Amino acid sequence: MGFWWRPLGVLASVMLVALILWAASGGVAALGFLVGIQAFVMARRLWQEYRLSRWLENPDEVDPPDAAGTWGDIFYRLQKLQRRQRASRSELTTALEQFEHAAQAVPDAMVILNGTEQIEWCNPASRSYLGLDCERDQGQFVRYLMRQAHFLEFLDAADYSRRLVCKSPINRELTLSVQLVPFGEGKKLLVARDITDLERVDAMRRDFIANVSHELRTPLTVVGGFVETLAETADLPPAESRRYFDLMLDHTRRMQRLLDDLLILSRLESADHSLSDEPVNVPEMVRALKSEAESLSRGRHRVAVRISSGMWLRGSQQEIRSALGNLVSNAVRYTPEGGEITLAWYERDGETAFSVKDTGEGIAAEHIPRLTERFYRVDRSRSRETGGTGLGLAIVKHVLTRHGAHLDIQSTPGRGSTFSAIFPAQRVLAAPENAQVIPFPALDQGAA
Ligand code: ADP
Repeated sequence: MGFWWRPLGVLASVMLVALILWAASGGVAALGFLVGIQAFVMARRLWQEYRLSRWLENPDEVDPPDAAGTWGDIFYRLQKLQRRQRASRSELTTALEQFEHAAQAVPDAMVILNGTEQIEWCNPASRSYLGLDCERDQGQFVRYLMRQAHFLEFLDAADYSRRLVCKSPINRELTLSVQLVPFGEGKKLLVARDITDLERVDAMRRDFIANVSHELRTPLTVVGGFVETLAETADLPPAESRRYFDLMLDHTRRMQRLLDDLLILSRLESADHSLSDEPVNVPEMVRALKSEAESLSRGRHRVAVRISSGMWLRGSQQEIRSALGNLVSNAVRYTPEGGEITLAWYERDGETAFSVKDTGEGIAAEHIPRLTERFYRVDRSRSRETGGTGLGLAIVKHVLTRHGAHLDIQSTPGRGSTFSAIFPAQRVLAAPENAQVIPFPALDQGAA
């Protein structure tokens, strides 16, 4: 209603003036006045219409018209409408830009297909996973670009609950999980995710279960066989049954060692098993390891110790002890009688390291990168004969990684090997002042 007040007021004033004129000067004067007013209103209307059309033609460049009265109201409302439209357009553009940025940043490949499976849009990850180029391939039929039989079958099936696991068409190292998601009118979103790591972990898990079952099968079969024989044979000579019991004990111990090592590994791997941060007196530990080596060797090897650093470590005493102990036990087990084993704790070129050098059988170069894999053995029967589980170096690697350290393996077949655990500077600490200081001989051979 607000709109009408002003024009009605103007009309009433004009009519009033015309009436006064009519009364004062006669009908002709009043009529002349009305014609004049009408001409003025028409001219003004034409002028405002012209300004309005000029502005509407190019609203972004031409200034909006400015006027008083009813036209002013109309212009003001149009300008308000235009501002609102501009704001929603810019909101829309921002949302679209944000969506594009997000889609570009998504690590998965995303491809929009129209109803006839032509590519409408794809993000940059589509190039590295599927070999698609958004600019080049826009409008192309996806079937012509990705012709693998299993992919075409997957498209034909149009089963949106299914995922296709396949190798990337441009990089055989990548395993992808591909999914189709329908949306809009007949459109589809094709999403391809890199699951190479998941697949690898899954394959490792399968291998691991197969390996553990395989490792347990032999001792269990042996023990089971002996138990059966003992149960079925009433009058077995005592010497024979003694031999059976010894063998059963042997195999039971083997299973025990395997389970112990598996438990250690699983504890090392469990996420909530945090690393303790205690000072570890490594020189003292190396001396203890020497005694351990001698007792394992039972006089079959010469064991030497070379401690040239008095530094300690920060970490888990128990884990470090178990890792270094594994290296020492391997040296004893894989060095023939009469060989020499040297344990060393030293600093060189800014590194602090524990090493075990042996004069054993050595390892061919092609095996070295795989030695820390679970159950990897160069010589299966030798490992078993000497009580190995195939998990020792996997444990060593885990412990060292947890401490930011790494394992270095140098070996020459027929001459021997050196296994070194190299610790980073931030794990190394000076021996506490109140610690018991024991003189470190530069080269201590034989003596405890
Ligand atoms: P295992 O229980 O079989 O000894 P490890 O994980 O400790 O398992 O070692 C893996 C393999 O590495 C062993 O089976 C052996 O073939 C090889 N190996 C480890 N240490 C030595 C060494 N000092 N000399 C020669 N070969 C070694």
